[in-house]
Amino acid sequence: MSEREFDVVVIGGGPAGYPAAIRAAQNGLNAACIDEWENHDGSRAFGGTCLNAGCIPSKALLESSELYHRASSEFDRHGISVTELGIDIAAMQSRKTGIVKQLTSGIAALFKANGVTALQGHGRLLSDHRVEVTTADGKKETIGAKHVILASGSVPIELPIAPVDGQDIVDSWGALEFTEVPKRLGVIGAGVIGLELGSVWHRLGAEVVILEALDDFLFMADAQIAKEAAKHFKRQGLDIRLGAKMTGAVAGKTGVNVSYEDSNGKQTLEVDKLIVCVGRRPFTSELLADDAGVALDERGFIQVDEGCRSTAADVWAVGDVVRGPMLAHKGTEEGVMAADLIAGKVGEVNYDAIPSVIYTAPEIAWVGKTEAEVKASGAAYKVGTFPFAANGRAKGMEQTDGLVKLITAEDDDELLGVHIIGPVAGELIAEAVLALEFSASGEDLQRTVHAHSTLTEANHEAALAADNRAIHAINR
Ligand SMILES: Cc1cc2nc3c(=O)[nH]c(=O)nc-3n(C[C@H](O)[C@H](O)[C@H](O)COP(=O)(O)OP(=O)(O)OC[C@H]3O[C@@H](n4cnc5c(N)ncnc54)[C@H](O)[C@@H]3O)c2cc1C
Repeated sequence: MSEREFDVVVIGGGPAGYPAAIRAAQNGLNAACIDEWENHDGSRAFGGTCLNAGCIPSKALLESSELYHRASSEFDRHGISVTELGIDIAAMQSRKTGIVKQLTSGIAALFKANGVTALQGHGRLLSDHRVEVTTADGKKETIGAKHVILASGSVPIELPIAPVDGQDIVDSWGALEFTEVPKRLGVIGAGVIGLELGSVWHRLGAEVVILEALDDFLFMADAQIAKEAAKHFKRQGLDIRLGAKMTGAVAGKTGVNVSYEDSNGKQTLEVDKLIVCVGRRPFTSELLADDAGVALDERGFIQVDEGCRSTAADVWAVGDVVRGPMLAHKGTEEGVMAADLIAGKVGEVNYDAIPSVIYTAPEIAWVGKTEAEVKASGAAYKVGTFPFAANGRAKGMEQTDGLVKLITAEDDDELLGVHIIGPVAGELIAEAVLALEFSASGEDLQRTVHAHSTLTEANHEAALAADNRAIHAINR
């Protein structure tokens, strides 16, 4: 039987892979996308980690838990009294599952509408652009492709000293599926995922202790913003212990016994559930035949150039499985870029303008360089900050924690970085991303009309403050 032939075969149907397949089809190419994702209930779905076990379900639970928290702690300030506030975790989880199902089935519909062939099974790249597809029931088929895009994503890093059992010790996916609020929750790792998941269950009533091996909190963020975040999280009652190196975790009858070491020596902690989220690693298991010609780097990422070309001709790799931040939107843009380059069109990703968002309350978002990075470059710079406490909309929302910080170059006023901690920072950062993308100056932002009363006025005022021209704050 002759092999099915495609112009483009994408292995992996997460946020890097499925947009690549759709864009390839939009470019008039005959595209297929292979994915092996299996949910805990045995169902199959496109969408990868992001839609099934990451961005989307976590944001659904973050929203529900934040609403509960605000109803219990803030509504009275609005003059609203709530007499019987309750939590129905089953309903919360079922709303989350409904959103995930809607979005993942949306991908199947998009594939159909764009003429992408959807293949469920495991894909393995052989030599000469052939791909072996193995379905769940073991049937094998080899398909041919002119181009292959590898988008196999990442998986959680496991700690042999705290093996995930799916019950008491869980990874991030398990933590999104708790059926009740744990009384005492331990989180290993104060990174983005640990903070978000810790926040969800803390807002719903869990006592949360987060152990972080590093001494610096949120080392990847601007130091001023990280300090501000630590202050708010502490006030909320999140117990974040820095410099705490876990030495073991054992699940027993009364909970999980966690041992760790900090500057005071050996410590122990007993919790009902433990979430291990110490990072993710690229996933290339059974992806590449020995003669596929695709090289990995020393950390296991597929080696690519700036256009996401691997070391094998006409084999591309995008998303979490290649260098760069493990973010859905970064993977999506890489997938689209690869599909455009394959079609002979222009394709580019501006790696200097990729926003990062942490969906805590207050939210944290940034793009461009931190102040420490600018300082290290030796260039003279200006900083403007503006607190949400002085923003009318934030006051009306009763969400005045945080600030906008904007950094511009002293010589030509180029916008270098924007760092926000505050309400919907993840939305507010979009303006800064666009400004960076268009190489805007601080003055460009100063001269842009921002609607009143909006939170975006804080961006505007921070830009003005960099030149000591803020209207609603006292300048230096
Ligand atoms: C709890 C959590 C919250 C997150 N929140 C955010 C967020 O808010 N914003 C954000 O930008 N990022 C977030 N992320 C990160 C985001 O999920 C990842 O960056 C993103 O999913 C990476 O996309 P990808 O397509 O590269 O890989 P993945 O999403 O991991 O998808 C890869 C797919 O390929 C499949 N696959 C792998 N190998 C094969 C094979 N050989 N054959 C067939 N199929 C294969 C996998 O089953 C999977 O379906 C979060 C992650 C977690 C865990």
